[in-house]
Amino acid sequence: EEKDNAELSTLPPGSLVRFRESEWDDNVGYFIKKKLRVWCRMHDGHWESGQIKSTAGEKALVLLSDGSVVTVPTQELLPANPDILEGVDDLLQLSYLNEPSVLHNLQCRYSKDKIYSKAGPVLLAVNPFKDVEPCGNDYITAFRQKLLDNPHVYAVAETAYNEMMTAKKFLVMICSGESGSGKSETAKIALQYLAAIGGGGGGIESEILQTSCILEAFGNAKTAKNDNSSRFSRVVQLAQGERSFHIFYQLCSGAPSDLRGRLRLKKASDYNYLNQSVCLEIQNIDDAQKFHMLMGALNTVNICKEDQEHAFETLAAVLWLGNISFLVTDKQNHIEVVADEAVINAASLIGCSEQDLILALSTRKIQAGKDEVTRRLTLQQAIDSRDALAKFIYASLFDWLVEKINVSLSMGKHNTWRSISLLDICGFESFKKNSFEQFCRNYANERLQQHVNRHLFKLKQEEYELEGIERTKVDFEDNQSCLDLFEKKPTGLISLLDEVSNLPKATGLTFATKLKQQLNAHHCFKVDRGGFSIRHYGGEVLYDTGEFLEKNRDSLHSETIQLLSSCTGELPQYFASTLLKQSQSPQSASGQLAMLSCQRESVATKFKVQLFKLMQHLESTAPHFICCIKPNSKQISGVFEKDLVLQQLRCCGVIEGVRISRSGYPIRMTHQEFTRKYRCLLPENMACQDPLSMSMAILQQFDVLPEMYQVGYTKIYFRAGLIGALEDVRKQI
Ligand code: ATP
Repeated sequence: EEKDNAELSTLPPGSLVRFRESEWDDNVGYFIKKKLRVWCRMHDGHWESGQIKSTAGEKALVLLSDGSVVTVPTQELLPANPDILEGVDDLLQLSYLNEPSVLHNLQCRYSKDKIYSKAGPVLLAVNPFKDVEPCGNDYITAFRQKLLDNPHVYAVAETAYNEMMTAKKFLVMICSGESGSGKSETAKIALQYLAAIGGGGGGIESEILQTSCILEAFGNAKTAKNDNSSRFSRVVQLAQGERSFHIFYQLCSGAPSDLRGRLRLKKASDYNYLNQSVCLEIQNIDDAQKFHMLMGALNTVNICKEDQEHAFETLAAVLWLGNISFLVTDKQNHIEVVADEAVINAASLIGCSEQDLILALSTRKIQAGKDEVTRRLTLQQAIDSRDALAKFIYASLFDWLVEKINVSLSMGKHNTWRSISLLDICGFESFKKNSFEQFCRNYANERLQQHVNRHLFKLKQEEYELEGIERTKVDFEDNQSCLDLFEKKPTGLISLLDEVSNLPKATGLTFATKLKQQLNAHHCFKVDRGGFSIRHYGGEVLYDTGEFLEKNRDSLHSETIQLLSSCTGELPQYFASTLLKQSQSPQSASGQLAMLSCQRESVATKFKVQLFKLMQHLESTAPHFICCIKPNSKQISGVFEKDLVLQQLRCCGVIEGVRISRSGYPIRMTHQEFTRKYRCLLPENMACQDPLSMSMAILQQFDVLPEMYQVGYTKIYFRAGLIGALEDVRKQI
């Protein structure tokens, strides 16, 4: 140690500049010489911290923190941060922003129940799976009065609120992350803060907060990854161990007896749409009690009793539709509908005759030359048309409910000239087997990532300008070419998918072959193991084309639409009329009906259009980013799986964001902070000037190269690595 210190004190002052991380390869020798702390990559790929003891050629002998000594090739070493930077609030304060350092910092904080950290302008929230960070009114007040300034969702909400009130009118808080990472909980915490400070005491706070209860009942379900996952289409098909939307189970176990009677309701286990996954309950959740809470929430949000009754009737109709069965009557697999209680109840709940329902589910009119011919459906066609009807009804019910809530909340309150939106978006996903769902969500995340990158880049340039420092040319890798791969017409993935989906006999293989012909030259695309892979910003994902075409087609036939528009049930009729309004055909209603079955947009195209609308909204708002991270896949507290976290940091673009932020001068300090810490490095007679002059004096004293820093009006900006070097010198004094 003494020898090292002696060496350090004789180091020429200019040597501080050697600590630039980008020059790590050239300076590994310095770390070795100084026996500084390093990260070493072990055989299995994980990182251990240690201290270099000696070196021989390209190998280093490293003393690990558990006391063992290992020999590691020097290219497997990365610089570790000085102790003073352990567990810092903001990753940008780290001198070395390599992956093991970032992970170590998050883990340190997580072990102390500090679940929030910052990565520059992005808030990172690691799911605690237990109550940790203080929430509630006292803390809301503390953040409001600026008594607390640690990283927290409340702090982000406070900043957004202030921005909305002072300058920018439209803001958005974007919560991203993978399933179970805590996006919805985080969004609720933000909502709690905003409702408390912005509600104005008119009662709107509780109305807004209660909307979560309703949206969760109708929009969330138990999945393998999350007991309360925000989902979209899972009405007709469930995986083992998963449930359909909570509302079905809540209704079945919580509906009072008079309502049960009117809906002819049975137990959840009696319905095919619910019992197929052999998972009817969630541990520690009482569905009947949840139904009670839902009724309370519907009342608070002013959904009238009549509308509530309509919604429950529609839900029961969906359940009964799922129980409708078919009898195969000939060798061609044609069917007849079994006219049992399922048909009677479903027909009565949607308000049509049993005969009309049977016809809609078992026949299809097709054009044969000039004539219209009625064909009987095969078993699979009948199942598909029944399930398509159930899905359409449920999806329309959800849209209707959101519309009702929006109308109720905006009643008499027209202050739409300022707003904060909360976006809870599904995160990037990569499984062993990826299908159409992952294709859509990864495409959405690719778009969002571009928005984040461009915004961070802009923010950085603006800050430099405000501080009056030289504009640095900071480049970042844009993902436009991956987006082109999806969106280009007519040879992008979505156009080609739609083209092949329109061919009646096409299969997944046809689609794969088409892609190979058209896209093989694209550098983000590769034909791979019977499917294709895409190089996304979050990593390469292999897609299986097997079910792409079926999932992309939106097969609601004109018979089904005709049936719904003839129903006396208020909601089915409303759903059909909305559908017709959405169709832009100027023809008469019946003409439109005939055209709808062939003209309906594919799911991918609809998704793209919705995504464009969302992006348009985002472009006109000032964003705040919260990246949620799942620390383990067991949904338990206290376990931090480094590989899992690292993969998410890459996927939600944190590493990329950090890279953009640090590509200029990632470390910033006010002149006061800087001089308070490092004035001890100056001779006594120099340590009494104003902070800006003193900052300059410290830098000159140590001969720091000008390209290593920029001096702003209030802050001083450094290249990565410099503070670590200054710290080392300070410690020797
Ligand atoms: P999905 O994409 O599947 O909808 P999500 O990212 O929205 O998932 P959440 O439903 O918000 O994830 O969180 C999953 C679970 O993690 C919650 O039900 C809750 O048990 C726990 N959780 C998340 N955030 C917090 C938090 N801040 N404090 C305590 N528990 C939390």
